[in-house]
Amino acid sequence: MKKIFFIIFLMGMIIGIILAGLYPNFQTYQQKRKNVISLMEETIYQETGAGNYKCCIDPPCRMCFLGNWIWEDGICECDTMIDQDKMDKVCPECIRGIKEGRCTSTKLSKGTCPILN
Ligand SMILES: [Zn+2]
Repeated sequence: MKKIFFIIFLMGMIIGIILAGLYPNFQTYQQKRKNVISLMEETIYQETGAGNYKCCIDPPCRMCFLGNWIWEDGICECDTMIDQDKMDKVCPECIRGIKEGRCTSTKLSKGTCPILN
C-alpha cells in the first residue's frame, strides 16, 4: 500500500518537472499583475526624475500614464496645469491625491497646494 503512494508521488514529481520544462515562463495572473505594476511604477518614477512626467503628487498618478486623461502618449502635465491655474485640466487621480495630502506641486514652494486653499 505504501508503494502506491510513493508511485503516485513520483508520478506527480515527473509531471511537475515536465510541465515546468514545457512552460518555463508560466506565471499566475497575480504574478503577472505584480510585475506589470512594479514595471509601471518604476517607469513613472524614472520619467518623473527625468522631468518628463510632470505629476503633482507622490506617489505619482497612474491615470495619465495609462492615457486615461487628456494627455497623449502617457505623459503627465498635471503640475504644469496647477502652475498655470488650470485646475480643470488636472486629472482626477491627482486631485484626489492632493486632497489626501500627497501634493508635491511646484506651487508648494510658493505657498500651499491650490485646491486646499
Ligand atoms: Zn495626473
